[in-house]
Amino acid sequence: MATGEAIAEGGRDFIRDIVAADLDAKRHSTVVTRFPPEPNGYLHIGHAKSICLNFGIAEEFGGRCHLRFDDTNPTREEQEYIDAIEADVRWLGFDWGRNLFHASDYFERLYEWAELLIEAGKAYVDDQSPDAMRIARGTLTEPGKNSPFRGRTVEENLALFRRMRAGEFENGARVLRAKIDMASGNINLRDPVLYRILKAPHPRTGTTWSIYPSYDYAHGQSDAIEGITHSICTLEFEDHRPLYDWFLANLPVPSKPRQYEFARLNITYTVLSKRVLTTLVRDGHVKGWDDPRMPTLAGLRRRGVPPGAIRDFVKRIGVAKANSVVDANVLDFSIREALNKTALRRMAVLRPLKVVIENYPEGPGEELDAVNHPDNPEAGSRKIKFGREIYIEREDFMEVPPKKFFRLSPGMEVRLRYAYFITCREAVKNAAGEVVELRCTYDPATRGGNAPDGRKVKATIHWVSAADSRPAEVRIYNPLFSKPDPTGGEGFTDDLNPQSLEVMRDARVEPILASGSNSPDPVQFERQGYFVHDPESTSDRPVFNRTVGLRDTFAKEVGGKS
Ligand code: ATP
Ligand code: MG
Repeated sequence: MATGEAIAEGGRDFIRDIVAADLDAKRHSTVVTRFPPEPNGYLHIGHAKSICLNFGIAEEFGGRCHLRFDDTNPTREEQEYIDAIEADVRWLGFDWGRNLFHASDYFERLYEWAELLIEAGKAYVDDQSPDAMRIARGTLTEPGKNSPFRGRTVEENLALFRRMRAGEFENGARVLRAKIDMASGNINLRDPVLYRILKAPHPRTGTTWSIYPSYDYAHGQSDAIEGITHSICTLEFEDHRPLYDWFLANLPVPSKPRQYEFARLNITYTVLSKRVLTTLVRDGHVKGWDDPRMPTLAGLRRRGVPPGAIRDFVKRIGVAKANSVVDANVLDFSIREALNKTALRRMAVLRPLKVVIENYPEGPGEELDAVNHPDNPEAGSRKIKFGREIYIEREDFMEVPPKKFFRLSPGMEVRLRYAYFITCREAVKNAAGEVVELRCTYDPATRGGNAPDGRKVKATIHWVSAADSRPAEVRIYNPLFSKPDPTGGEGFTDDLNPQSLEVMRDARVEPILASGSNSPDPVQFERQGYFVHDPESTSDRPVFNRTVGLRDTFAKEVGGKS
């Protein structure tokens, strides 16, 4: 049932309201949307908002959503990006079925329609240089000037346009423009370019074409050819809508889609612009499109973010008409929500400090039980090795503790998770005066973590066995930009956070984490956060990426205010 009542969940927004009203009024028998990426980079989380909106609406209202590559600029587009985009949309949980299209599928028809515009006196070939054309376009406050070539006859225009297609002219020598209104208050209507000469091979059409349609010309007509009912795009296209409608009104298109605009996603400490992300990759500021610091879907995936967390985030932020900036904590919140339910608990020590338990017997030690998930008994438990030598987190010890520090310090007793109470007797230092080892004692009566005499400790810390744990590398990712509102403009690299990656090379993890099986599912390192195996993991040396910390430490990490 394709009516407004068909919505099960997901909330309403002004676009869904429009779709519901159109279906109720029987303006369309079914809703058809599309996600139209240009294959000139990897998808980022801003695209995820658009994907969830377009595919989500199709799902909720029983329609369909097309994946259409807007492949009109062969100089910047690559097969690698096409493949990555398809993989990312699937990973996010959406399926276009048979509805995979390309603007290039329509190049021939778009060309024929351009000839129709010429024949109707609504398009002309302009020989002005790009600079002259830019100057003649005018400004927001001044009207533009007619091109000296605007008065060409239909025959002359047709002949020239055909020769453009035949490859007779150099790149940039001429363009085909719509003849609309050089004095229009809307600059997009000042004789926009429909075709440019570009002798570049195209990933799909090869060397067939020497001219390529402009985005504005190709986009709306592709929508019309595919029978798109609601063409949903971001706000910067609002001023293009009159042009979108002009083409539909002046061409024999098989359907009349309508364009609706919503606010693009912006996130604090993040730049969502393919141009900037491309530069970061190209200039080596990050390790690639899937660097876990990147806001790309590939980066988020490598960081361990489940696709459901991204869908939840998109639902949470909603769809509106006014631009805004979403706090990066909202995304982290969605990630924690998703992982808290599923991630198995493990112990890992990121910055190890050795502890010798002096009254614990020498020898093989013992096995203790550790639960895999506190809220899910079905996740079961595992055995962990305890022994005379263990590692704890360096920051869980302070020689001279401040008032509220309840973890280890000389004379203090704490609980070792799943094990015993221990008391610190002495801190051993090296020649430089750094603490390199703690000498502690344990209370054998506290096995499992409780004292029979009812005595309490104020802190429980995690640990791993020195003999049994395995070395690992742990990568902690902080925001890529150190400003809440990085410009993304000229000199944007000044805003990069020099501490965006911290590597802990001497971490120690439970042996179960180094089994070589490299689960794609993140685990929780108790007290530390959520972590996932990086693809660079080997069985000798697991590498973990921190997906997200346990608490909101965001403002602290970048030195800002919370
Ligand atoms: P960028 O601005 O990052 O270069 P783009 O708009 O050039 O992105 P496209 O491949 O053209 O990239 O985008 C495909 C679709 O995704 C478009 O409909 C676009 O409006 C939408 N989109 C791009 N960025 C965002 C964003 N930050 N929030 C929501 N939708 C976005
Ligand atoms: Mg775009």
